[in-house]
Amino acid sequence: MPAAVARVSHSASPPDVRKGFRVCLKTICKRSESYDGDGSKERSVDCRIEGMSYEKRADYSERFLFPPSVEDWVGPDHPARFIREFVDALDLRGLGFRMRVAEEGRPNYASDMLLKVWLYGYLMRIRSSRGLERGCRENVGLIWLTGMNEPDHNTLWRFFNENKRALRNIFRQVIRVAVKAELIGLVLHAVDGTKIAARAGARGALHKADLEKALRKLDENVEEVISKVEAAEADEQGEYRLPEELRERGQLRERIRAALTEMEAAGTKDFQPQESDARMMKCGSGRKEFGYNAQAVADSENGLIIAAEVVNEADDHGLLVPMVEKVEVELGLAAEETLADGGYRSAAELRRAEDRGYGVLVALGRQREVIPEADEYHPSKFRYDQELDQCVCPRGEALRFEREGMSHNKYPVRIFRCQSYKECPVRWQCSRDKRGRKIELSVHHGSLMRQREKQRLPQKQAALRRRPGIIEPVFGHIKQAMGFRRWTVGGLEGVRTQWSLLCTTVNLSKLHKFWLSGRLVLKAANQPMIVPYA
Ligand code: SF4
Repeated sequence: MPAAVARVSHSASPPDVRKGFRVCLKTICKRSESYDGDGSKERSVDCRIEGMSYEKRADYSERFLFPPSVEDWVGPDHPARFIREFVDALDLRGLGFRMRVAEEGRPNYASDMLLKVWLYGYLMRIRSSRGLERGCRENVGLIWLTGMNEPDHNTLWRFFNENKRALRNIFRQVIRVAVKAELIGLVLHAVDGTKIAARAGARGALHKADLEKALRKLDENVEEVISKVEAAEADEQGEYRLPEELRERGQLRERIRAALTEMEAAGTKDFQPQESDARMMKCGSGRKEFGYNAQAVADSENGLIIAAEVVNEADDHGLLVPMVEKVEVELGLAAEETLADGGYRSAAELRRAEDRGYGVLVALGRQREVIPEADEYHPSKFRYDQELDQCVCPRGEALRFEREGMSHNKYPVRIFRCQSYKECPVRWQCSRDKRGRKIELSVHHGSLMRQREKQRLPQKQAALRRRPGIIEPVFGHIKQAMGFRRWTVGGLEGVRTQWSLLCTTVNLSKLHKFWLSGRLVLKAANQPMIVPYA
């Protein structure tokens, strides 16, 4: 056997360093090495050890004795292998994927291969089509999944663009797989949302206040120019001609008016023409930016995401029931309890949840306790009597239901009014209203009270305390581990698809562990795993 050659860099130096030779202490090599006298600088030497190499080095001239097999490039536990099995078990046509067939010219890439590239890319934090293209040349998992094909970024982007709905169905499919493997429970679910900045930034954005100001200025300017033209017309006889400047300003005015109309229709004061679906909201940076509100529901059993949605509403008030409905669509049933934080607190939503029979626990926060001592007649000191449907004041007098109305032109309320204020000795301390004291209660006040009552039970309080541990890791995974901080696609449909892909990735990374342990089997009976979606 030829002697292996290794170049060794010795780091340990004996304290009594002298110029000359010393014995290599790190290996079984018994040879001496030359050494600098000052002890500060070491020199490497070639150690020749019979039958073994000390340091592994790349041999760029190496040739394979036998041609390598693609199948051997990734190990049996590799996530790429899991992605291949998962996609191979799907009925892509049934899920709505466009199956291209090239009649002539270059053959097209198979949909299942491109789907594998996207899923594995997301798993590896590669989310751009150009990054995936590069990955197909450099990343061993992608090279293996594509069988050394190299789809370019246009092909990859076209696949994403043409199959948005089908890609969202993949998320639903993952849930079905998890349900089939009994990895999802129906006891405790938790919902939450996060605001993520839109692809388009603030540059080029329109703001209603600025546009109105510009319009006012333009109007003044146009009137000034018109009066000048009219004066000139009166002095010199001739044909009236609209100056070029005026014509341009007129066009600009029309454009501003059109933008204002568009903003009115969209119900927003800030508008990004490059991304008309995005709305101003406080995103992860803490600043107000154009963005979208991404929602997710997670299950307490294995932390899998069971519902995902993206909306362009900034607050979560009206999203509790729609998210539970999504869970019901996927699983057939809603959980015994769905937990939500104070952002979802809405009497109307609690009422809707009651009507649909959903168990929900929403953090209501503490009742306002900081009430000035002197304010004996603060609204919180009035009690609602559900049986008699009336409010009772601190003096024990009843305030009867008067009518329904709107609070701040926003929320429907029921108005209760005192009938005995004329005889009351404290009527002016109680209220300055000449018609007597009035109390406004939400039309869904009863639901709010029942929720408060429910949360007095220790087991419900314990369940509510589990909320952050169930849902927060999902957002932690997406934002911290996957480094996702800004949408890389535009429009509501685009971001919904991207959010679906991200949630699919979170679920697949969890399912991969069950697949390794044998609890999840994907190739059962050679049957497609899915029921096609309508
Ligand atoms: S004014 Fe009416 S509501 Fe107020 S304290 Fe007197 S009786 Fe009660």
